[in-house]
Amino acid sequence: MYEEVWGACKDMTEVAMTLDGRIALVTGASRGIGRAIARMFAREGARVAVSGRDGVALNGIVAEFGDRVCAVPGDLSAPESPDKIVAATVARFGGLNLLINNAGVIHPARDLADFDPDAWRNVIEINLVAPAMLVRAAVPALRSAGRGHIINISSIGGRKGAGGRSAYRASKAALINLTESLAAELAGDNIQVNCICPGSVDTDGYRQLMASRGKPPAAKAMRPEEIAEVALFLATDAASAITGTAIDAFGATNPLLSE
Ligand code: NAP
Repeated sequence: MYEEVWGACKDMTEVAMTLDGRIALVTGASRGIGRAIARMFAREGARVAVSGRDGVALNGIVAEFGDRVCAVPGDLSAPESPDKIVAATVARFGGLNLLINNAGVIHPARDLADFDPDAWRNVIEINLVAPAMLVRAAVPALRSAGRGHIINISSIGGRKGAGGRSAYRASKAALINLTESLAAELAGDNIQVNCICPGSVDTDGYRQLMASRGKPPAAKAMRPEEIAEVALFLATDAASAITGTAIDAFGATNPLLSE
């Protein structure tokens, strides 16, 4: 009897943790955290559309996984890109279940007074407006699928402001708030919306930020795969109870550890 019940539970867990049959779109998949998420999702059984501007890097992931992955390149600073990227994904794979809004601009440390106004606006455009427009474009396909999940990649910087980080941190704080609004709007469609707030992760973007501060990358920075694991959990049925949340994933860069 015990073995029968345990066997059923184990099967449920295995089903709950897989992405078999799911179709995912990952933005900013050419490198860093987005690349790690795309590769992990493909390994876990999803078909994955990878987006970004660097077509060569995107094709590298396609070469690794074959038909299971397709490249849907696009520059998110162009207003027409979100619709085009989602349409290309649906045309290629026939639907959409998972949207991972990961692409982001991590600008160099710069006070607002010294910021070029167009560059400041561009950060808000890529980090906040583009994710919202990608959701808007994706909702019809997510509704048709009968269920869906949107995961926004915010930041530890979305939790608190800091000098030199005005555009970035304002955009990431707004992304947390947007997550809550969209979770409320889409709950009736069986679409979950959550976000992840990573601490320091060793990527090109992070290294450039640290260089602009004249500092080396922190030895305790996380690997991109550690954030991909959190995204994987949220994307599976194992996370069916969770929507409208912001999950802090600070790793060893958690400020609690230095207090
Ligand atoms: P990254 O190494 O700088 O990579 C950024 C990604 O965004 C690239 O794939 C890039 O693709 C894409 N991207 C940037 N501008 C774009 C545009 N105009 N159009 C389309 N794609 C664009 O960044 P990361 O460190 O992996 O960060 C990924 C996400 O995690 C970002 O949202 C970031 O804010 C967030 N995050 C990172 C950290 C960290 O410590 N690394 C911490 C907290 C949150 P192309 O260059 O191919 O266009």
